[in-house]
Amino acid sequence: MKVLVFGAGQLAQMMYLAAAPLGVEVYAVDVVAREVINPVDKSKFDMSIEYAVSDVHVITAEFEHVPEDLLDMAEKSGKLHPNMAAILTGADRVREKYVLDTNNIQNCPHLIVSDVSDLDAAVQALGEKIIFKASRDGYDGYGQWRLINSEELPKLKHAFASLDLKRVPLVAEKMLSFDREISIIGARDAKGNVCCFDIAENLHHEGQLHVSVAPATAVSAAVQKQAEQIFETLANALNYIGVLAVELFQSGDELLVNEIAPRVHNSGHWTQKGADTCQFEQHIRAVLGFPLGDTASKGVTAMINIIGCTSFSRDLISIPGCHLHWYGKEVREKRKMGHINVVADSYRELGEKLLLLLQYLPEEYFVLLRGEAQRLI
Ligand code: ATP
Ligand code: MG
Ligand code: MG
Repeated sequence: MKVLVFGAGQLAQMMYLAAAPLGVEVYAVDVVAREVINPVDKSKFDMSIEYAVSDVHVITAEFEHVPEDLLDMAEKSGKLHPNMAAILTGADRVREKYVLDTNNIQNCPHLIVSDVSDLDAAVQALGEKIIFKASRDGYDGYGQWRLINSEELPKLKHAFASLDLKRVPLVAEKMLSFDREISIIGARDAKGNVCCFDIAENLHHEGQLHVSVAPATAVSAAVQKQAEQIFETLANALNYIGVLAVELFQSGDELLVNEIAPRVHNSGHWTQKGADTCQFEQHIRAVLGFPLGDTASKGVTAMINIIGCTSFSRDLISIPGCHLHWYGKEVREKRKMGHINVVADSYRELGEKLLLLLQYLPEEYFVLLRGEAQRLI
């Protein structure tokens, strides 16, 4: 069987690797070059996108910002999973907030800004600590502006004056404090079966995910259940087929949705080594109508992103339970180059392994990872 993925980055690559043992071939579309390629070795197929759409069994996406004409073509073929509206909901924060609000799912207090004059109303309604997020095309904290006190408002107004807010509005969100960031990742199949992984606990730095630990350390069974309910409500509302990720802010037992991603997700990479079925295989299973796999965790896992550098020692794989996944991309500042999964039997052992790992990584990892290791120990 064949699956076509819109997007040809590391997520498509990892889908390919997970699908191969099931006898499923994965083709990727480089949506910029508009070419059909192999997502692992990047070799080009002598095949148009139209032909690929007609030839494959299922079409899916590795990211939400797929040009709408391609989504449209795929939707019309009847093979696109998740559906176009679900993908577009993840691609547009205004639509996303609408889905959250209409399904009574708690999220950050917010206001839509489609004119510079809306900024005063935003400060009135939300207070002076606000994050403004471009409604489209943002990721890893790009396309965001932070207001810390209202004296900075004129500067922001000036900056926003050059944006086309009518076409691409901003979502102003109250800046919240919370205990931790977590995510729930799961799959829904065509019959409506829903199956979630254990919650991951996510450490962000400058708006970008650096470390995930799963199962999350301070999550009770009740919080896991609450997150699964949020997941199911959303997946049902979107008539979703495939893997979906929901980012949450946790304060005590209270959960609030930050955003959703209609796809496999960086905070689910731990499942490659730490769960019975990984998120990539689960997605392939869900979109092709195969039975969903067991999502049970195998021990405790930390996933560490390698960001913007290549200066680490591959010998880190000498640590038992430590695995490297390298994407083979050209190095660029803040770019996700690969990740490391470390599996252990206990949080304490995981912390100890993270301390061992430090000797193989560049200095910029020390503060964050040592802190995380010490917390786990
Ligand atoms: P991603 O790469 O996850 O798609 P993104 O660019 O879409 O990132 P968000 O997830 O919206 O951005 O925000 C990035 C990070 O900024 C969050 O993980 C969180 O640490 C912080 N953040 C976002 N919204 C808020 C908020 N309302 N209050 C406090 N912190 C926030
Ligand atoms: Mg996002
Ligand atoms: Mg996010």
